[in-house]
Amino acid sequence: MELVKKWHEHYPSEIPVTIKYAEKPLYAFLAESAEQFKEKKALHFMGKELTYDDLYTQAKQLAFYLQSIGLKKGDRVGIMLPNCPQAVISYFGIMMAGGIVVQTNPLYTERELEYQLKDSGTTILICLDILVPRVTNVKGKTNLKHVVVTGIKDYLPFPKNLIYPFIQKREYNMVIKVEQSDETHVWQLILDNTPADYLEAEIDPKEDLALIQYTGGTTGFPKGVMLTHYNLVSNVQMCQAWLYKTKGKQQIVLGVIPFFHVYGMTTVMNLAILQGSKIILMPKFNAEDVLKTITKQKPTLFPGAPTIYIGLLNHPNLNKYDLSSIEACISGSAPLPSEIQDQFEKITGGKLVEGYGLTETSPVTHANFIYTDRVNGSIGVPWPNTDAKIFKMDATDEEAATGEIGEIAVKGPQVMKGYWNNPEETENVLRDGWLFTGDLGYMNEEGYFFIVDRKKDMIIAGGYNIYPREVEEVLYEHGAIQEAVIVGIPDAYRGETVKAFIVLKTGYTVDESDLNAYCRKHLAAYKVPRIYEFRNELPKTAIGKILRRQLIDETQEIST
Ligand code: AMP
Repeated sequence: MELVKKWHEHYPSEIPVTIKYAEKPLYAFLAESAEQFKEKKALHFMGKELTYDDLYTQAKQLAFYLQSIGLKKGDRVGIMLPNCPQAVISYFGIMMAGGIVVQTNPLYTERELEYQLKDSGTTILICLDILVPRVTNVKGKTNLKHVVVTGIKDYLPFPKNLIYPFIQKREYNMVIKVEQSDETHVWQLILDNTPADYLEAEIDPKEDLALIQYTGGTTGFPKGVMLTHYNLVSNVQMCQAWLYKTKGKQQIVLGVIPFFHVYGMTTVMNLAILQGSKIILMPKFNAEDVLKTITKQKPTLFPGAPTIYIGLLNHPNLNKYDLSSIEACISGSAPLPSEIQDQFEKITGGKLVEGYGLTETSPVTHANFIYTDRVNGSIGVPWPNTDAKIFKMDATDEEAATGEIGEIAVKGPQVMKGYWNNPEETENVLRDGWLFTGDLGYMNEEGYFFIVDRKKDMIIAGGYNIYPREVEEVLYEHGAIQEAVIVGIPDAYRGETVKAFIVLKTGYTVDESDLNAYCRKHLAAYKVPRIYEFRNELPKTAIGKILRRQLIDETQEIST
């Protein structure tokens, strides 16, 4: 049945309403690009470049090696790496061997790592050498049998005898010397000694898992999202359809958002591999490094999160850098202030549009159009084959009226199979094929969607609903404010009250009463923050999302 909805009226003719997605494993895209683009560059990392042929060959070698140490179809293999060549090679190599990738954040504490390894039943982990002590401490408490160790040094463009002393002194205080053993495996030795003729697993793309991706989900407790090959294939093909002007032209993609988060994984890694593009790998975000890299490497695509664009725009020497190569950016994972969007487009001459999604949907479900009209403040419209509805709050099956705020639910080929080993939570969010996102929003007459907030972030003060995002938008328009977060804190009289955390731009001074007067001018009195706290920086996740929960907890700890 053809899906035709209000929002499809806005689709430019180049974007189909429905797409026939490839029914193959995700890694088939790597094999095809390696065939077609053989000697073209696939990865750039600190000056070292790998061709598509190098990347595919090394993924095949890793697949062979993993099978040789016992990996069977469906076994879980963890990756604990920042953006670097090994992260891409491992991701594809694991899937090619028939394994399921489990991404872990290299910043996890032992407790977090142990929980995730245990819950997923991971038996092999590929990790960075400097993380070996942490992994060793938890290994005995998990099912982990093998650890493959690699270092940033494995892909630097200099001879090892030159680079080792340099690394020891400058980059890390230590280079972990790891000996190959039955349980510990050294990346470089694997690549030096392993053939590439691994045994391809038989994959049923619609049933077999490619990835278990951990997320707080709607309730905050970490759960493993099961994503099939088909989930990932369909979402990246949708991504390609959305960026139709890039088709057939090799792009240079800036890979600064982490690939261990589903957003960087799909919009940077999977898309680049599908299109035969070159990825500029950056292991962490630092505004100056990113500005230098853009000037030098001239990326055309730059998916990011709002805090990344904000960080760049606030760099004191922004004018020194040339960002004119950037053609398109999709911003996701948190609300994009319109102010930032306009400034960034002015500086780059490219497009910056807001999209939306979540781990449970591989992740993208909505975005604004890149090359035609967009609606500021909106997350855009649902992607091809993707249906979306607003359900009335607290009434499970009743649809909200146009313009009415309710919970956003989505349906489409990118929607997860469920939560790993957690049928109860799965049933809570997946009903009749609809994924209930836990985000509050509405759809306007034109079929554009707007997020007002996360269900759990909504503040109820004196009986009024307050959506932090609206207050934050107003604060971002204030010329002195670099970052702003609004949270609800307990209040004896109003139930909750509004507190603002503010980071000022360098060189600006404003105080609480200035901000209070400003907010009173732009917001109804009940939405105006009652408390302001000025900070030098705000805690963020690896993808750049501000950690609201942590700020609330800190506030509560102080007051108790
Ligand atoms: P994650 O599973 O970590 O990708 O987080 C998904 C959540 O990020 C969504 O449920 C939203 O609450 C939030 N999110 C993603 N994109 C946006 C956006 N454009 N605006 C507001 N919130 C967003």
